[in-house]
Amino acid sequence: MEGSIAELRETFTSGRTKSVEWRKKQLKALLDLINENEDKIFHALHQDLGKHPAESYRDEIGVIQKSVDFTLSCLDKWVAPNKENCLLFFFPAKGEVLSEPLGVVLIFSSWNFPISLALDPLIGAISAGNTAVLKPSELSPACMSFLSETVPLYLDNKAIKIIGGGADVGQRLLELKWDKIFFTGSPRVGSLVMTAAAKHLTPVTLELGGKCPVIVDNFSSPSKSKAAAKRIVGGKWGPCTGQACIAIDYLLVEEKSASNLIESLKKTIKRFYGENLKDLKNLSRIVNKHHFERISNFLKDPQVAASIVYGGSVNEEKLIIEPTILLDPPLDSDIMTEEIFGPLLPIITLKNIEESIEFINSKPKPLVIYAFTENETFKKRILSETSSGTVTFNDVMMQFICDALPFGGVGQSGYGRYHGKYSFDTFSHEKAVFHGAFFPEIEPRYPPWNDFKLLF
Ligand code: NAD
Repeated sequence: MEGSIAELRETFTSGRTKSVEWRKKQLKALLDLINENEDKIFHALHQDLGKHPAESYRDEIGVIQKSVDFTLSCLDKWVAPNKENCLLFFFPAKGEVLSEPLGVVLIFSSWNFPISLALDPLIGAISAGNTAVLKPSELSPACMSFLSETVPLYLDNKAIKIIGGGADVGQRLLELKWDKIFFTGSPRVGSLVMTAAAKHLTPVTLELGGKCPVIVDNFSSPSKSKAAAKRIVGGKWGPCTGQACIAIDYLLVEEKSASNLIESLKKTIKRFYGENLKDLKNLSRIVNKHHFERISNFLKDPQVAASIVYGGSVNEEKLIIEPTILLDPPLDSDIMTEEIFGPLLPIITLKNIEESIEFINSKPKPLVIYAFTENETFKKRILSETSSGTVTFNDVMMQFICDALPFGGVGQSGYGRYHGKYSFDTFSHEKAVFHGAFFPEIEPRYPPWNDFKLLF
């Protein structure tokens, strides 16, 4: 491990990765890697998570293709120095901001989107001219093997290395000195990363998780309420069966609208995924036995079990949990205090939908707040009275693929951001440059002081 890192540092010091040509060549090679290995990627994602190829294309391959294309189309603009005017007092001196790579960076990724969450930050690291180690998650072993075997065939392996392994490997990597650590994972391990980074004053980006609420207001037309149900069901259960950091965790609705909404959600679930546990289709499976038990255990609490209004069946052998809706489980139960990260949807009813603001503010700041509402005043209240990484109105998940928007959390849901230009910035240092001029020489800036100089 130490030898690999020393090689990366040597490569960085050689200056090779700073050239824009090198960066573009690597990004194009990454695109080739994705395009020429689609079938292998589909296969690995199916092995690790039972993902359907359509889902794999949408959430993994397509995300990377889009991200590389966008970066290649903007890179010349991003690397160009930004000229800035300084105080007129110093004219004709000029200012400039240069983006320089940070150096040797470490990227940790998680298992739920094991290709896109590994390669998307890597695109940022390469575009900014860094060398990098990528440590994929051991919980998606087929994807980890795919990355370990394939990346060295396409990318400059003196500059980019994949180091596979579990928590022990992660710990050993954290003991080394890095110029940046980019971490995607749980708040628990995020805290270990930040502690290790502090020792070397290494900057970190932490892409963490939490409980993302969706507020569902009343609608002015049945077509809007139908569209909302489709988006909620597609966004909750579609990407990796709810095993997503930006998946809806729980839903807030007014008491009087709950039963209509639940009927609409049930109908949509049946249409998208089928009805009985044995006939379920288009859903990924739970990643492993540990997570299957973690999610199933939420339902073992008798008061939580009594709140199930749809689903609730599980198949331990196949690691499948049926899409499940719960109505008003106890607010102090584990399902309402821990991140669910799975296919269970608690619905909490409120007398008035505006109470949702207070409800959300009683919990740690989420990665995303989703809100289905046509009420512009309520939208403004949500924006000004709550805090979250993102607010998405009238849709679910779509913010993730909008490269113009920064992606990241706040408070317990994370620190820092990426995607599009934000990825480039995340892996760059913005160096300020002041180009001084020798003439004119302005004497009042120097001692000896007198009352006349005070006027300046
Ligand atoms: P995790 O924290 O268990 O693991 C993340 C990475 O850290 C993996 O590569 C793992 O091998 C490594 N790791 C685990 N324990 C370690 C240790 N003790 N020392 C060093 N490294 C260690 O998280 P996970 O189970 O992979 O992912 C689930 C969590 O990640 C959820 O909380 C979810 O919300 C969050 N997540 C966030 C995003 C995001 O973009 N914000 C995306 C996906 C997942």
